Amino acid sequence: MSHVFPRHCHVTLPTTVAGDGCYLIDKDGKRYFDGSGGAAVSCLGHSNARVIKAIQDQAGKLAFAHTGFFTTEPAEALADLLIENAPGDLDRVYLVSGGSEAVESAIKLARQYFVELGQPERRHIIARRQSYHGNTLGALSAGGNALRREKFAPMLVEMSHIAPCYEYAERPNDESLEAYGQRVANDLETEIQRLGPESVIAFMAEPVVGATLGAVPAVPGYFKRVREICDQHGILLILDEVMCGMGRTGHLFAHEAEDIKADIVCIAKGLGAGYQPIGAMLCTSHIYDTIKNGSGFFQHGHTYLGHPIAAAAGVAVVREMLDNNLINQVKLRGKFLANALEAKFGDHPNIGDLRGRGLFRGIEIVADKKTKTPFSPGLAISAKFKKAVLAEGLICYPGSGTRDGKHGDHILLAPPFIATEEQLTEMVEMLSRALEATL
Ligand code: PLP
Repeated sequence: MSHVFPRHCHVTLPTTVAGDGCYLIDKDGKRYFDGSGGAAVSCLGHSNARVIKAIQDQAGKLAFAHTGFFTTEPAEALADLLIENAPGDLDRVYLVSGGSEAVESAIKLARQYFVELGQPERRHIIARRQSYHGNTLGALSAGGNALRREKFAPMLVEMSHIAPCYEYAERPNDESLEAYGQRVANDLETEIQRLGPESVIAFMAEPVVGATLGAVPAVPGYFKRVREICDQHGILLILDEVMCGMGRTGHLFAHEAEDIKADIVCIAKGLGAGYQPIGAMLCTSHIYDTIKNGSGFFQHGHTYLGHPIAAAAGVAVVREMLDNNLINQVKLRGKFLANALEAKFGDHPNIGDLRGRGLFRGIEIVADKKTKTPFSPGLAISAKFKKAVLAEGLICYPGSGTRDGKHGDHILLAPPFIATEEQLTEMVEMLSRALEATL
């Protein structure tokens, strides 16, 4: 009998014992193509020699030093590398152990920034329905996914949730893309006015929504309008790139595609590429200097901040991406995958939408293409679908949005950046067979 506390108590999972490029191998020798990189984590595949060596070397030199006493070479090197390649005015890096920690840090930094500015009345964070920002209580409070919040609702911090920018499901046919983008961005202005502009800290959003919608980018102009509104009221823009960042969408930072500046950016997943648990919060020098010139101390922290082995892995991951021009490869392979998905599923009666950026693609499954009615309960999250994909030797990331029955039955694909065209073609074939076996 296993003593592991699993995610799902009634499912027996295969035991995986090895990784080989884009594949995971279970103890019976069966190979699984990692079509979702776990959950958009394994961007370099599972056996990258450079990252493995960096981890081994660092473990042999120094495994841990507390950030209350020391900085370390790998933490300094990773912060330098990220800032050299970051857009806008991002200037400081706070290294944590994962996405939820990065988001918690962002929420608390944003609040402390205004306290140091002498504006302690600012306390509201506005985020969006159908978003996911992590599972710790602060991050879960920012998240707007009803199902994930439900059991913990009485314990969550009060935060506002405005409409997501989700044109497939929510744009009326007679509204242009541009008008839709401006209208939903203006929901932010309405909510700021409702709360009182002087009480708002920040707006938080994923540039491309991952787990809860399935690779949904905003329509053109949406984020520019959001930035404008934040600036008008002196409110911080926090971008959660935990899933969509680190090259996944064809840019090192996903918001580069929107041509806007962020005040705080959270990254994780692809930063460690699965080799080490690591995340980071990046902020501008203005925010950092406000803390530095105020109390001089960010009232937040974790034991494993700036962990040297995790940071060494992060340096190797980012260098591997940059030296091998993998981000451009994401753009090219992303186009190839988009075309392959369109060719296979474009006319499928149950595929309502194909979308995404780079190697971050979403497939929305509907019971009725005309009315966009989802399957209920969700087809993509059904035990039958999961069994069918595993039997094919494919890992993908199925999700269902909310229980409101309105939208959100999707499959998220986030294959490793090193996947070949042949492997991507085979992935689409496996997915198609699994879907046919489920329908
Ligand atoms: N933010 C986003 C956008 C995510 O997709 C996730 C995880 O899926 C998180 C935050 C939380 O990250 P972690 O699971 O590393 O805590």
